[in-house]
Amino acid sequence: MRRSGLLAALAAVTALLAPPVLAQVRTAYPEKRGVALSQFPRTIKLAENVYGYEEIRQPGFTTVSLFVVGADGVLIADGQGSPATTQKLLDAIKAVTPKPVRWYVVGSDHGDHTAGNSVLPRDITYVIHPNALAQMRRDAANPNRQPGAPPVVVPPAAMSGVSQTIDVGGIEVRALFLGRAHTGGDLMVYLPKQKILFMSEAYLNRVFPAMRSAYPSEWVSVVEKALALDVDRYVPGHGFIEEPKVSREELVEFRKALQAVIAEVKRLHAQGLTADAATAQANWGPYTDWFLREQQAPIAVRKVYEEIEGKLK
Ligand SMILES: [Zn+2]
Repeated sequence: MRRSGLLAALAAVTALLAPPVLAQVRTAYPEKRGVALSQFPRTIKLAENVYGYEEIRQPGFTTVSLFVVGADGVLIADGQGSPATTQKLLDAIKAVTPKPVRWYVVGSDHGDHTAGNSVLPRDITYVIHPNALAQMRRDAANPNRQPGAPPVVVPPAAMSGVSQTIDVGGIEVRALFLGRAHTGGDLMVYLPKQKILFMSEAYLNRVFPAMRSAYPSEWVSVVEKALALDVDRYVPGHGFIEEPKVSREELVEFRKALQAVIAEVKRLHAQGLTADAATAQANWGPYTDWFLREQQAPIAVRKVYEEIEGKLK
């Protein structure tokens, strides 16, 4: 073999051995995705002055916040699950801008997104749906709250209507209620110019549909409404933030997961099974491997049973 031929052959072999450019693994498990836990929390720039923020919560998947830096201050959509982790979010914002945090949109009223709110500035303006406000009032008054749990910060007032526009100074932000989904008071944060939609917990990226306080069928229509908006990038409340094209594909996949869970539970309910028996016999197909499946599947079965039996208020 001539020398040039040998070099060409070597180059070909090297190309074969070189690792291919891997597409990002589609999973909510950091280790399967190849992201070390030491990389969290992390701030991800989504557009000029718009940032996603991923932090790890137990049992080891991400909780996502969003923040928008306007000329007049910073807007946060969803915090983290404790004063310490929300303080870290505030520190991450400080690393980006000296502007004060002035607005907070309650995408999800659940504790893993709101239990750190006591570290937010006292004079912050909250945007919250009436259903979420009612829930937070109930949570604050709950006599069975764990002793030592962080205080529930109850916003003073709810938004009126299904949409509220916030001008953070040069950037238009819209808080949108597209219907009841994961909490019943679900708000999304829409940036019409940047075509970004932060969906909070109405979008769980490769996390098994979590239905403790959900409205299963209404949730499907909420996702359909979100898919019909003029959006390039959908940002989830749990699971990884994806590149624009994948973010839409994964939202479609999440809608399919919701539909598959509802259909499977309906099938088992029609056989006259108890919820426990249905949980034991259910076949979740490709969603068996999604994060939290073991904990969330029995809850989803009970919730879809309630919906079928007309017990969902
Ligand atoms: Zn959550």
